[in-house]
Parts: sequence; structure tokens; C-alpha cells
Amino acid sequence: MKLICIGRNYAAHIKELDNERPEEPVVFIKPDSAVLPKEQDFYIPEFSDNVHYEVELLVKIDKVGKHISPKFAAKYYNEISLGIDFTARDLQAKLKAKGLPWEKAKGFDGAAVIGKWIPKKKYENLQELGFSLLKNKEIVQEGNTALMLWEIDELIAHVSTYFTLKKGDILFTGTPSGVGRVERNDYFEGRIEDESIFEVKIS
Ligand code: ZN
Repeated sequence: MKLICIGRNYAAHIKELDNERPEEPVVFIKPDSAVLPKEQDFYIPEFSDNVHYEVELLVKIDKVGKHISPKFAAKYYNEISLGIDFTARDLQAKLKAKGLPWEKAKGFDGAAVIGKWIPKKKYENLQELGFSLLKNKEIVQEGNTALMLWEIDELIAHVSTYFTLKKGDILFTGTPSGVGRVERNDYFEGRIEDESIFEVKIS
């Protein structure tokens, strides 16, 4: 199973990190060992002093596919969720400055929080979904899938040009603005609309 992640899919987050708007989606992979086991705290790794949270809408692939066209992309997933793409921002900045791959900053153990799965048919329009991240009960990130630069189906088409999608693969669709640093004893909750999708404590 692989986690296929999209960077810079919301205009406001691009501004926040001083990034250029890309011509096509920024794509990277996290290994399956990055998944934070359910009910487990997130431990800040010793190699970083600046781990950031990034809340993201998730899509679970449930059929093998490659070179999928946007028109047919919806046939490849039935469930969505919400999660966190934890990022060691200090390490990422160092690697980026040298033009090196980000994997160590994004793919370390526990760097992917995955919430409970919700059938997509529960929602009228997946491209008009509000979601939020609460830190210690206060909202720190608020997003809406209507603000994605590339919609879910376009992302699936794009990534399947390069990677065969397999059943169980998970797509992280990028984070809206409001990313920030995690600290020990922080408590995060992710919500789609008003429904709680995950909770995670920082240790
Ligand atoms: Zn991300």
C-alpha cells in the first residue's frame, strides 16, 4: 500500500509557504510504515524541532488502475476520510535548499494520520466539502474542497499517469492554509463538516 500525496493544492497555502503556483500537481509518496497506528500518540521525532501539521482530505483507491481519465476517476474510489500529513519542516527546508528529495521530512514513521472512512455517497458534492482541524479545541485550519487547484478526479488522473493505483492506496489531496508547529501534549481533532473523523495526541 502506498500513500500518494499532493503538495500545494490550495492557493492560500502556496502563499503561506512562499511557493510558486505549480503548472502541475506536486506529488510525493509516503511509505506504508508512515501510517500512525490507530489510537497511538504521535511522537515528535528527535531529528526535528519543527514538525508541522497539515490537515488533508483523503481518498481510498479501491480498484487497480493506470492512465485513468478524469471522467472515469470516480469509479476508482468509494470512501473518503481526513488525515494529517506531518512534516518535519526544518528538515524539509534543508533538503529543499539542496534540491534533494523530501522523503525523510515527510515519510518518517507516524507521519501519516488516517481517520475513519466515510462512504462518499453520504455527500452530495465532494467538491464542496468543508473540513477543519482543531488544536486543543480551537480551529487552526479550515478548508473547503471547492478551493482545490486540482479536483480529486483530476488528481487521480494525474498520479495514475506515473503510478499504477492499487486497491488500498490512499491519496492525500493537499492542505489548506493554517499549517503550524506541533508541541508535546497538543491534541488534534479533524472534522469533515461537523463530523469528527480523527483524534490524535502529540507526545
Ligand atoms: Zn501535505
